[in-house]
Amino acid sequence: MRIVHLTSELSPLAKVGGLGDVVSGLSKALLKKGEAIEVILPFYDTIEATLIESFIKVDDLSIDGKEAEIWQGKSDHIPVTLIAPLSDHFKRETIYGEKDDAERFTLFCKFALAYLVKVGTPIAILNLHDWLTSFAAPLAREIYPNLSIGGIVTTLHNLCYQGVCKPDKVLPAGFPKCPFLFDTAKPKYLNLLKGGITYADLLTTVSPTYAQEIQREWGCGLEGLLKSRSEKLVGILNGIDEEIWDPTSDPYLKLLMPEDRRSVHAAKKGNRAALSAQVGIKLSEKPLFTCITRLVEQKGPELILAGIEHVLENGGQFILLGSSSEKKLKKKFDALAEKYEESPDAHFHFVFDEPLAHLTYAAADFILVPSLFEPCGLTQMLALRYGTIPLVHSVGGLADTIVDGENGLSFNSPTAAELERTIDRAFQLFRTEKHEEMIQKGMGMDWSWEKSAEIYLHLYRKASLSTPA
Ligand code: ADP
Repeated sequence: MRIVHLTSELSPLAKVGGLGDVVSGLSKALLKKGEAIEVILPFYDTIEATLIESFIKVDDLSIDGKEAEIWQGKSDHIPVTLIAPLSDHFKRETIYGEKDDAERFTLFCKFALAYLVKVGTPIAILNLHDWLTSFAAPLAREIYPNLSIGGIVTTLHNLCYQGVCKPDKVLPAGFPKCPFLFDTAKPKYLNLLKGGITYADLLTTVSPTYAQEIQREWGCGLEGLLKSRSEKLVGILNGIDEEIWDPTSDPYLKLLMPEDRRSVHAAKKGNRAALSAQVGIKLSEKPLFTCITRLVEQKGPELILAGIEHVLENGGQFILLGSSSEKKLKKKFDALAEKYEESPDAHFHFVFDEPLAHLTYAAADFILVPSLFEPCGLTQMLALRYGTIPLVHSVGGLADTIVDGENGLSFNSPTAAELERTIDRAFQLFRTEKHEEMIQKGMGMDWSWEKSAEIYLHLYRKASLSTPA
């Protein structure tokens, strides 16, 4: 089956959060099953071309007086097509967060579809991801009806971001102004995600619980629309890339974990020594807590701040890996970092740092995931694989993956008091027999993409049946 993903992220070429991991993990699993996969993404200036095997320019495209180059190669075995507009839209230092994001990513969708039309090979499934590539759904059906697509699948990774924007510079001339492309609260503005949801033949989201929540309280205004399409909406838990996240072979670890998971503690100790030296905290026997996250409202920043203080006041150590683009929030974390500047037990790391994340998962004892809502969440699964116990707010994918007292500790309402109580439980659990049991159980769980990819494939087949390609 020919499956084409249009995406704004693909690990390791362009990754901001879980989306990049999901597209690469799912694509690799589907390739292993013998499917024909192509991933199309923008050629950001930040992409390291050396990571792409046999990378060459294959074509030039021109639409509405704008030009782009088409590049192809293989990233970690995945066939990739990179679209490089000659304009400055992707010649920036960041992937998102630009004022003209809506224009940038709709331009990408336009070029991507024009390229697919030019190639002309029928597509069984066109899988779009979030608002960033959602515009390709109305575009394909309204402007390119002759492009043979069996089914359009829109995957909802996070309803919070919908691409609400002014129509000028986005809608091509003559594009039908269908009411369902426009935002309900701001009717003069487009809502790109709404278009992606309305035109899709199948909607997937990244955990079964989130699939329910977005039809109720976490649909960010699209609850009604999603409810009306509920028979097309399926929640499939994300997997993790078990080759990249393998504690028995991870090149970023100082000490690898044994296959039989017996001397996990010795490995943790060795990694902790390396981590402590690297970030400049004191090597100690205290429980080490961490939080590895984007610092945005969704992730419960107020709870993270309270949690860090609670851990430090009660005799633990804390390492925060928090990538941040929101100035207001960053200020609060800066203030806390300053307060603990002299502390031998705390380290604040405010950049996205993949190698450090690997080492921290391997060295820590506990990880905080107090998200207000969480579509799936990868950090809790990665942590479990490295013998680190998650403390989670039981919502979305966190509720689907963490069972209190079995592989983690969970709480039901996102308040500082509840989180602090859960941290107290972690202190009590630390180095007990029960703790060991939970580590063993967590490390043995199967989060591979294999199972989830099978479900995607089954649904893809159904979605493409109407007009098989
Ligand atoms: P989201 O996609 O909402 O950001 P997920 O839990 O699904 O959250 O995925 C987060 C991914 O990004 C994980 O792989 C995590 O390890 C990684 N990550 C988040 N923040 C950082 C950081 N500051 N440094 C390194 N990796 C990070």
